[in-house]
Amino acid sequence: MKAVLYTGQPNKVSIEEVEKPVINEDEALVRVKYIGICGADIELIKGNRNIKIPVIPGHEIVGTVEEVSEKNNELIGKRVAIEPTISCGICQTCKIGLPHICNNLKVLGVHCNGGAAEYVKAPLNKIHLVPDSLSDEKSALIEPVSVGIHVVKTSKIQFGDNVLIIGSGPIGLLVAQVCKFAGAKKISIMEINDFRKGICKNMGFEVVENEKNTENIDYKYDIGYEVSGSEAGMQKLMEMVRPGGKIIIVGLFKNPVPIQLSSILFKELEIKGSRVYSSLDFKLAIELLNKGIINTKHLITNIVNLKDFAYGVELASKKEAMKVVVDVQN
Ligand SMILES: [Zn+2]
Ligand SMILES: [Zn+2]
Repeated sequence: MKAVLYTGQPNKVSIEEVEKPVINEDEALVRVKYIGICGADIELIKGNRNIKIPVIPGHEIVGTVEEVSEKNNELIGKRVAIEPTISCGICQTCKIGLPHICNNLKVLGVHCNGGAAEYVKAPLNKIHLVPDSLSDEKSALIEPVSVGIHVVKTSKIQFGDNVLIIGSGPIGLLVAQVCKFAGAKKISIMEINDFRKGICKNMGFEVVENEKNTENIDYKYDIGYEVSGSEAGMQKLMEMVRPGGKIIIVGLFKNPVPIQLSSILFKELEIKGSRVYSSLDFKLAIELLNKGIINTKHLITNIVNLKDFAYGVELASKKEAMKVVVDVQN
């Protein structure tokens, strides 16, 4: 089969002919239709992840089931999205009911082969049926929508809360949409990139420039979401979130950030991380997309063919695109 391979040479992927995956009785072979390109793929291809190579990237996957063991034959031909996180089930974290942050968590497209190929294999309990009414392109966004849902659930948002989101890449904008669905009153987004600012505005979100924490400000943010992975973003939230408020870390920070810990003490701030999602979040993502509660119209900016995967990654990493999806069969 044809597959995109990352072989460890930074910023380089190639299309190669590789063996089709062989499944065991607890797995399904999925013929990939669409995948989404994500910041995590970009980091991997830049060589910023310590992973086993070669690897086929891609963890935002929709396709059709092509092969399963006899007893699951009813799945053949069904359209599915793959929840790409595989937990071990036996570590302490799995056992206390947090398998999404399993000590040995593996992600398809990072630690084992992903969806940038004609076929991918996945555990049967990680494939989710996609309703006919949800298009292939939109289905490629199920995985990032699950991330957004998990972020907002982690923040335990309350109806009427004011929220500040730093960074309006695809995840920031999905967090914003989930916050809106969850009943946030004021949703402000801080973004520096003009292209992204434009998309925020087209989606009806308020972009704040460099908001100052002045005395006459008539609101304070109950929750801040750091989705940019930047020190400036984190410092801004430390300042702008009200006493007793929460900060959720979503963006990946490459370097340590100096933070005034006494501000956390004096303001009784809560700072919590949010990583991937649970299977329930994944199922909810399918439902919210299918009902149109999550709008992908402004999010999917480019569709490329599999042979142009490298170009898609380049577009996404230059921030000249929002979400790039790959039509794998063409
Ligand atoms: Zn992703
Ligand atoms: Zn585990």
